[in-house]
Amino acid sequence: MSRGNSVYAGRLCYHALMSRPNHALISSCALQHNLAQVRALMPGSRVMAAIKANAYGHGAKQCAGVLAAAGVDGFAVASIEEAEEIHGLGLRPSCTVLAGAFSSEEIALAAAHGHRLVVHNQEQLFWIRNTALSSPLEIFLKVDSGMHRLGFSPEELPGVFDQLHGTGNRLSLRILGLLSHLARSDTPEDPYNAHQINLFQKVVQEFGHYTLGEHSLPNSGAILSLPHSRTFWIRPGLMLYGLSPFISQSGSALDLLPVLTWQSRIISIRELPAGSWLGYGSAWLAKEFSRVGIVACGYGDGYDRRMGNGAPILVNGQPSRTLGRISMDLCFADLTHSGAQYGDTVLLMGGGKLPLEKIAISLDTIPYEIGTRIATRVPRIVCP
Ligand SMILES: *Cc1c(COP(=O)(O)O)cnc(C)c1O
Repeated sequence: MSRGNSVYAGRLCYHALMSRPNHALISSCALQHNLAQVRALMPGSRVMAAIKANAYGHGAKQCAGVLAAAGVDGFAVASIEEAEEIHGLGLRPSCTVLAGAFSSEEIALAAAHGHRLVVHNQEQLFWIRNTALSSPLEIFLKVDSGMHRLGFSPEELPGVFDQLHGTGNRLSLRILGLLSHLARSDTPEDPYNAHQINLFQKVVQEFGHYTLGEHSLPNSGAILSLPHSRTFWIRPGLMLYGLSPFISQSGSALDLLPVLTWQSRIISIRELPAGSWLGYGSAWLAKEFSRVGIVACGYGDGYDRRMGNGAPILVNGQPSRTLGRISMDLCFADLTHSGAQYGDTVLLMGGGKLPLEKIAISLDTIPYEIGTRIATRVPRIVCP
C-alpha cells in the first residue's frame, strides 16, 4: 500500500507530505477548463476573474498564478490589500478593486501600482479630485441598476461626470467604463434580471461616450444563463472554481470541474468496545464494537461544527461519516466497516465526490460561504 503518498503524487505537491496533513489541493487543469467554459459562453469578452476573499477560499495567489498563465485578462478583488497581495506576484493582469478606495492614500497607491478602482460614492470622487496622481488612474464607475447596494443611481451620473471632468487630474484619469451588478442572476428566469440588464444598457447608451467603453455587468449566474447580459468585461467568480450558483444544478451539470479537493489523514485509531462514549460532550455512543479514526481537521480549519455526527466523508475513497462532535483541530471518522489504517486519506470536501454545493444545502447556506470558511492555516497546494 502506498500510504503517505498524496493522491496527486506530482513534485508540486511533495511538500504536502511534510506538515500537518490537512490540505486544500487546487487543480490547475480544472481551473483552466472552467476559464475556457467562461470564454466559450461569452466569446470576445475580457475576463476579470473574481479572486476576492482568497479566491473564495481556494487560495488567491495560487489561483491568480494559474489563471494568469491561462491568459486571464484581469482580476477582481475586494480591497487594496488583496490587490497588493496579487501585485506582489508580478503577474501581468491587473486587479480591479470592487469596493474601491477607502482613503485618498489608497487612490495614490492604486495609481502607482496600476490597480483599477471601482468608484461608487461621493467620498471617492472627492479623493480623486484632491489626490495628486503620479501615474494614470484607471476607474470603473459603478451604477446601481437595482441591487441598491453600491453605486450611483442613473440620475446621479451627469453630476458624477461633471465632477470628474472638472478635476485637475482629468488628464491622469482613465474612465474605463460603467459597471453594475445583478441581484438575482442565481435565478436567471426572474424578470428582474431583464429589468436590470435593460436599465444598464440604457445608461450605457446615454453615458457610455464619456468612458472608454469598457463596461462590465455579468457574474457567473449571468454568464451561464443570461447571454444578452454580455459586456466588454465579464466578472466570473464562483463558476471558475467549478461551482454552480444555481440551487437546482451542480457544477458538473454545467460542464464545470471542481477545483478544490480538501483532504486530511487518519492520525490515530481507537478500537472501542460497545458502550464507549466518544469525544467532547460524549456526543456519540458506540452501540457495537467500533473502530474510530482520528482525523486532523476541525472547526479551526473551517470544517463546520454542524458537520458532526453523520456528515459524509470518504476514507481511502470509501464512503464513511463523521462521529461525535467536531473539535478545533480534530474530528472522528467511522472506520468500523473499513480496513483503513494510520495515514490513510480522508476526503472532507470536493474532489468531485463531495460537492460543495451539496454540503452548502445541508448547512443551509451557499457554496460561496463554504469555500470562504476554509481557514488560512490550511495550505492551498496547486496540483495538475
Ligand atoms: C463577487 C462578485 C462577482 C463574482 O460573482 P460570482 O457570482 O461569484 O460569479 C462579480 N461582481 C461583483 C461586484 C462581485 O462582488
